[in-house]
Amino acid sequence: MIARRWIITAAFVVAALVAIVLQAGRPPADTAFMRRQMDFAIMSTEARVVVYADTADHASAAVTAAWDELRAIESRLNRYDPASEISALRAAAGHDAIAISPSTARAIEAGRLWWRQSRGTFNPLVGSLVSVWKQAEKDQRLPTDEELRRAMDLLDMDEIELTGSGDAWRCRLPREGMQLDLGGLAKGWAADEALGTVRRCPGVRAALVMIGGDGACWSDDDWSRPWSFAVQDPLRGEQVGARYAELALKHAAVVTSGDYYRAYTIGGRRYSHILDPRTGRPVDHRLASVTVIHRDGAAADSLATACMVLGVEPALALLERLPDAEGLILEHADGGLVEHRTSGFSRYVVSGGAK
Ligand code: AMP
Ligand code: MG
Repeated sequence: MIARRWIITAAFVVAALVAIVLQAGRPPADTAFMRRQMDFAIMSTEARVVVYADTADHASAAVTAAWDELRAIESRLNRYDPASEISALRAAAGHDAIAISPSTARAIEAGRLWWRQSRGTFNPLVGSLVSVWKQAEKDQRLPTDEELRRAMDLLDMDEIELTGSGDAWRCRLPREGMQLDLGGLAKGWAADEALGTVRRCPGVRAALVMIGGDGACWSDDDWSRPWSFAVQDPLRGEQVGARYAELALKHAAVVTSGDYYRAYTIGGRRYSHILDPRTGRPVDHRLASVTVIHRDGAAADSLATACMVLGVEPALALLERLPDAEGLILEHADGGLVEHRTSGFSRYVVSGGAK
């Protein structure tokens, strides 16, 4: 209880910031539904849960359920927490299978699905490569070809042994050094999981779960107004909330992958935090950001990362090939931005973007 209060208090510090980033949906003027919102820090960023329900108690219970779910997911997936399931898998790599939660098993399965769909450009086993680049940054030198080769030898998602059903799941990473890093899908996936939890709570009519700039929303069929999402302007990445476009959605996940927040800096040069599993190296092209809309949060997040790896034309081809995905790709050009959209993206845009 004490920890929770502390987090909520801390969240107020960042609430103003979040309020700019997130454009939470507004209720129809004539409804009597109760709105509850909670802002808190999670997954190294700020999160917001908004719920509309028939009673205040129902709305509050649903918000709390989402918060609990997100904290549980974070504690299982955080690769920097030695007590997480992801860390336990890493420690046991090359040895025995270990018991994991059904939730983590689902996340790994989703990762494998989108690894296949993206033809390996999204790869949750990228952890071994991430470690090589982190160490290189620490030592301020580029990784050697041998270091990259060794890490790239540990990227085959088909080698992961995942067995079980119901509540009993086991997983084994068969080779020493194999490391899962679900960072490429964690936010979209977690937002969607928490949204699912909220939807199962009684009395809920509409809900939004945002983690940083990524999130998932839903409203029941009678709910007349969509949720609105802001696409961050990647040229003003340091200015959180600077909006490139505004989107309106009723039931979808929206995830953005960009080059503007995190990077490895080695010898004064910035390298993207997104690595190309085909080369072992940070992606190096003119993509500023990719925003993907998909019903499924893991899909949206995985695809956004995959598109950053692929570059404009192959990324558009991948998204067009998938019937449920839409995307907005922003590319650096002469100090400005050039925009590319999939054929169905425009129906979600309410303002901003290239005319
Ligand atoms: P995102 O912000 O969703 O694009 O995820 C980026 C994070 O995913 C990075 O910080 C890494 O932890 C991880 N990552 C980097 N490259 C890849 C990749 N090619 N596939 C999957 N995850 C990746
Ligand atoms: Mg992603």
